[in-house]
Amino acid sequence: MNKIAFIDMEGVLIPEIWKKFANHFNRPELLITTREVPDYKTLMEHRINILKEYNITLDQLIEIIKEVNPLKGAKEFLDYLQLNNKFEIRIVSDCFYEFLNPLFEKIELPCEKAYCHNLEVNKDGFIEKVNYSREKGKHEVIVKYQKKQITRLESIAIGDAFNDFTMLHLVDHGFLFQPSNEVKQNAPSYFHIVQSYQEINDYLRSL
Ligand SMILES: [Mg+2]
Repeated sequence: MNKIAFIDMEGVLIPEIWKKFANHFNRPELLITTREVPDYKTLMEHRINILKEYNITLDQLIEIIKEVNPLKGAKEFLDYLQLNNKFEIRIVSDCFYEFLNPLFEKIELPCEKAYCHNLEVNKDGFIEKVNYSREKGKHEVIVKYQKKQITRLESIAIGDAFNDFTMLHLVDHGFLFQPSNEVKQNAPSYFHIVQSYQEINDYLRSL
């Protein structure tokens, strides 16, 4: 089996989706992130309540997402990783298939190659709850692969925030892509901090 690149979506390949929602509906409450509410499940309950309060349905959100484009160079970066560096790509995101499907099409990656969560919608079209696909964190995905005999040496991981740390810990080359200062200051020294896809390509070439 090829080497695997485990890659986050928001902040690495696509912009932050909740920021788009907040701007579109002019609802600054939707800008709250895990910085303000560190527990993701609590944060999502909070977001779901705001959406219901303002009568925003999943379909409305999906229409906004359809207008979102991947970050500049993201698609080319994935192509390069696959063709030149012979990586298989696996997306590991704390976002939802329902949100990300239009974007998977744009980066030409089948959703079977992604590990995300699912949204449960009620009969009126409002998001009711999240069905989480993992309990503790993104590392659970990598552990599954490691059990299938893929060694650390064969894999890389790329993320941008605290929820990526456990995933980056489990590979030999963990990259933090354009992290905030707060994330950067708390990152262990063996994470590679990069500002561009090119820096990751250069690093991989130097190995
Ligand atoms: Mg992210």
